Amino acid sequence: MNDQSELPALIADRCALFFDVDGTLAEIQPRPEQVFIPSDTLQALERLQAEGVPVALISGRPLTQIDQLAAPLRLPAAGVHGTERRGADGETVRLALDDARLNAIERELATACAELPGLHLENKQVAFALHFRLAPELEASARALAEDFAARHADVLVLQPGKCVFELKPRGASKGEVIRAFMQEPPFHGRYPVFIGDDLTDEAGFEAVNALQGLSIKVGPGQTLASRRLASVAAVGHWLEGLSKRQGESIQQLD
Ligand SMILES: [Mg+2]
Repeated sequence: MNDQSELPALIADRCALFFDVDGTLAEIQPRPEQVFIPSDTLQALERLQAEGVPVALISGRPLTQIDQLAAPLRLPAAGVHGTERRGADGETVRLALDDARLNAIERELATACAELPGLHLENKQVAFALHFRLAPELEASARALAEDFAARHADVLVLQPGKCVFELKPRGASKGEVIRAFMQEPPFHGRYPVFIGDDLTDEAGFEAVNALQGLSIKVGPGQTLASRRLASVAAVGHWLEGLSKRQGESIQQLD
């Protein structure tokens, strides 16, 4: 693992840039609805997009929330860990799931969560998140509950652990798969993929970008498949601003 000072020089107009949102572009907050992307970071993304550098957001959030966070930008994006993906052409593709089955799982989950006050159940329509950020003592109970559901619905769901969250997402959805899909399409195709993320769900994205001979960057500490590291959300913002302002030049200075 290299540190931030060893990030390679990049020429933005040869890159395809992929970003996780929470914990990467935006600081994590006690509640997901409090999260925002700093205006300097949004402006940097806007400059890159205006210069024709392909930028996509890849998040565990649904596309609707990604668009709210990125507003007024509307970028190519993948939501719910790759369950839904909107390409540069504006078309959205979703993994098809059985509504009746998902509704039954949600009712069952809601009943189980009602017995664990402080555990917050988020229905993402195509996936479910059990948040314990506000009740960290519930981690073991939340894990047991999520593992039980993942085991009993293993034909359609897989468990995705994250920071203070256990998610049940559709089988087959991954950040790696959506990065591979973006890279087969214009304007991403033929460019040097760069993916920056902070969490366990981003590891599949790092793996994909490594296999594509691109650049994988982990935000913050922790074991990772990423080849490089940035220390914090603030460091990501700083790096992104430098890249956007000096688009077309080699970026050497990464203090
Ligand atoms: Mg994240």
